[in-house]
Amino acid sequence: MVEGCLFCRIVGREIPADEVFRTEDMLVFRDISPVAPVHLLVIPLVHHDSLNQLEDGELAGKLLLAAAEAARRENLLTSGYRVVVNTGRDAGQSVGHFHAHVLGGRALEWPPG
Ligand code: 5GP
Ligand code: ZN
Repeated sequence: MVEGCLFCRIVGREIPADEVFRTEDMLVFRDISPVAPVHLLVIPLVHHDSLNQLEDGELAGKLLLAAAEAARRENLLTSGYRVVVNTGRDAGQSVGHFHAHVLGGRALEWPPG
């Protein structure tokens, strides 16, 4: 738990969120400002500022597996989905707690803006 971190507070249920599921290490919840019909966030329960601070490969793998499980629960496996990790200023990372977006439910453009 990092003081002042929005996502740590969501993990601690100090701030409500529309939770989809939790695992031992991860929380999956709905983004408050969805940009696609399905827009979920996958976060580790333990705080890391961004992908740059992540050293635990097992945790990184668990995050990807949780993203795939989220997509499965949202029935996106056939239609497809995108997993995005914005890192740093140029990528538009706005919350300093490592997270992955899971986006789906419509055709997504590529390349991103
Ligand atoms: P980033 O821009 O850092 O890649 O993604 C942060 C995401 O967190 C954004 O898509 C934003 O809509 C979402 N977000 C910001 N504040 C909250 C909140 O209080 N609750 C939820 N559920 N999502 C949030
Ligand atoms: Zn945090």
